[in-house]
Amino acid sequence: MVSRRDAILTGVARATDLHERLGVRDELAAGDRAVDVLGAVQRLGLFLMFRPLDGLLGAYVPTRALSGILVTTKRDLHVQRFTAAHELGHHILEHKVLSLDAVVGFVGRGETSKHDHQEIEADAFAAEFLLPKWLIAAHLLRQNWGRSHLQQPDFVYQLSLRLGTSYSATCWALLSQRFLDRETVMRLLSVEPKVAKQRAVPDMKPENWHRDVWLVSEKDRGAHILGSPDDLIVLELDENVASGYTWDAKAIALAGMSLEQDDRFTANEDRLGGRVQRRLVLQGEGHKRLFLEERRAWDVSQQSRNTFEIELALVGREPEGIPRSGRVLAA
Ligand SMILES: [Zn+2]
Repeated sequence: MVSRRDAILTGVARATDLHERLGVRDELAAGDRAVDVLGAVQRLGLFLMFRPLDGLLGAYVPTRALSGILVTTKRDLHVQRFTAAHELGHHILEHKVLSLDAVVGFVGRGETSKHDHQEIEADAFAAEFLLPKWLIAAHLLRQNWGRSHLQQPDFVYQLSLRLGTSYSATCWALLSQRFLDRETVMRLLSVEPKVAKQRAVPDMKPENWHRDVWLVSEKDRGAHILGSPDDLIVLELDENVASGYTWDAKAIALAGMSLEQDDRFTANEDRLGGRVQRRLVLQGEGHKRLFLEERRAWDVSQQSRNTFEIELALVGREPEGIPRSGRVLAA
């Protein structure tokens, strides 16, 4: 009889092994992107298909020749990613039976009593594969966020976007990876992510709050954002207006993105320095590389004082069929 604790430890250990085998830890050490779980599934030669599953989030179908993973098209990308990680866990853990999964993420939530040990192993694998302690720490370091920030839902929400996981899965990982105590996590979970989204764009009233709202700063320079076409990307960049430097927003249209809002406000703590924050709210669809320059409009030498670049994959949930990245490779 395998204990619940042993099953969790096994799942965690196998996720750590796979990170090592695929070089994930080196790739993500900069804390600038989420784990590419769909890419990992494909690199391992597994068959992966998205289907409008009825009552299921996903399934693992082991066969002698080519094992397969099915993931629903009916849930958002964060749930699809967690489900794919859970099914990948069944494969890595060499579970030989068909698994039909109506729930994932239960280990993180502490709900393990009604699941058999293979399910607990696969689920612990998923949580560790997507949300290892070192990756959370790398993102916190890059953003310069500490424990005081993690007490606040707005920062935890922003962290969850960067990790490519749901707000609740992120909260549970902060508990299981011992960044936060249970009391704090329960308080964070009592707040709807919608509240954090609203506070990020207080002057906007979109028709629904399914969309995510990214607050992007210079700490995200060079990062890779995995989002949806509906998402609002709020760029907040220091601007040296007093010296005549401004961020050139023309690059946004050149990158094929739309500029929803453009304004400036004075940073409170630095009022006398003439430094302001430029706030650009963007939206776009598909893969974009945005490169912005801060320069003097009249400067014929076009010398920029500062630059900012970011990669955006605003693709949303995976539609029916094989993963989009696989289609690009096959084309
Ligand atoms: Zn399962």
